[in-house]
Amino acid sequence: MEPRKENIVMFPFMAQGHIIPFLTLAIEIEQKRGCTITFVSTPLNIKRIESSLPPNSSIQLLEIPFRSSDHGLTPDCESTHDLPYHLILKLVEASRSLKPSFHKLVYDLVRKQHGRLPLCIISDIFFGWCADISHEFGVFHAIFLPSCAFSSACYYSIGMSLPHRNNESKEFVLADFPQASRIHVTQMSENLQGADGKESLSQTLRKLVQDCMSIDGALVNSMAELDEAGLTFFQKTFGKPFWPIGPVLLPPGTGITAAKVCRNWLDTKPPNSVLYVSFGSQNTVSASQMMHLALALEASGKNFIWVVRPPTGFDINSEFNGKEFLPEGFEERNKASRRGLLVHQWAPQMEILSHKSTSAFLSHCGWNSVLEALSYGVPIIGWPMAAEQFYNVKLLEEEIGVCLEVARGRISEVKSEDIVAKIDLVMNDSEKGKEMRKKACEVRNIINNSIADKEVFKGVSARAMDDFLNAAMLMREQAKRIPGNSISTQNGS
Ligand code: UDP
Repeated sequence: MEPRKENIVMFPFMAQGHIIPFLTLAIEIEQKRGCTITFVSTPLNIKRIESSLPPNSSIQLLEIPFRSSDHGLTPDCESTHDLPYHLILKLVEASRSLKPSFHKLVYDLVRKQHGRLPLCIISDIFFGWCADISHEFGVFHAIFLPSCAFSSACYYSIGMSLPHRNNESKEFVLADFPQASRIHVTQMSENLQGADGKESLSQTLRKLVQDCMSIDGALVNSMAELDEAGLTFFQKTFGKPFWPIGPVLLPPGTGITAAKVCRNWLDTKPPNSVLYVSFGSQNTVSASQMMHLALALEASGKNFIWVVRPPTGFDINSEFNGKEFLPEGFEERNKASRRGLLVHQWAPQMEILSHKSTSAFLSHCGWNSVLEALSYGVPIIGWPMAAEQFYNVKLLEEEIGVCLEVARGRISEVKSEDIVAKIDLVMNDSEKGKEMRKKACEVRNIINNSIADKEVFKGVSARAMDDFLNAAMLMREQAKRIPGNSISTQNGS
């Protein structure tokens, strides 16, 4: 008889930018490590996830109840995607109410398995409170950080110490993370810029950090070679291992959207000739920025695919044909010349980035997008919007050399001629462009080496994953040896 497989419970926060890397990690652990996965999310998210599981996957999806209307949110709001940006924090706070239901869910799961415990619980960084529940059952607990440690360290340090207060100059150095060098006040989220220590974001961050104090460790979606300073910072701060196991990446073709239109369009373009423009799963630009970006794309003369959404101030999911925010005849002109493809709302990003015609990526620099681009050696034109995206750009531009920042934030003024100049610099045969492409290819090789999981060669990320699984096994062995610890379900009642 085959030995029973180890089970791992995974529980991401309700946002595409979190669910996608969690699901990718789940698929990877299931396929490469032979574990079974129980994937927990709220009912509407489970429905969305169901349709994006690969056909050969046996990941078990479990619903956890969530009533958004109990928290002053619109009914059926179960994702940051359903919200304007300024209400996202409310969803983070509301998600704390999932705690008793998660406790019951683990209890029921263990009972169904006749007292057999999962090997570990991997929760979102926003659900650090899962650590206490895990430990109650004697189960190892880790958080999964979908971002890199460098940017998270900047964000953490700024959120905890608010260094821009009582600071006349617009620039500062982080006392506990000087490796980030100088940070400008415009590299802070709008909701932190005005923070005085009593404001909600800083307060929420403190609570989240407090919740994470009893974790057993963290999985980080980055590579040791590129993220040393941030990893060391967190290991010191939390006194726990932070395992860089990244990047976890969905193979092209496993996305949620049909890729055919984009692929066919890209197939008609010469190699390295297309600029891909997208601001992630939930960001958009202002109406004026959108107009300048459109003008720049036309003036640049480059082929482009642009994922367009309604500008800030409009419902991001609303029906939108873009006409009133774009130069007259923009879409028709680009359709006729076949120079530009506008994709409304959602594009098959991995398909686009992996295509040989794609040359550069104008991105908000969410960490998933960054890893996806670099895994194909695509250099980045950065336009960070919020949260740790500013520090991703900092790391990519100042430390790694694969990015050029073009603009900052959703409200700043941008000029189309500045955007054109940056596009030219990156996509033309300039020294800067060549250097960035060379570096991006070097990073692609680092990525491939890190995740190599062959008998002849095991990369650092694959070894970090071994270390994490061994630590979880060890905890279970130790729990078994404690007298009186029968690993029963009685604790969970
Ligand atoms: N994404 C996509 N198509 C889109 C926009 C986004 O497939 O049109 C995916 C993208 O490939 C990435 C994720 O959504 O995996 C966005 O995550 P990221 O961390 O880049 O940004 P966030 O959305 O969290 O700000």
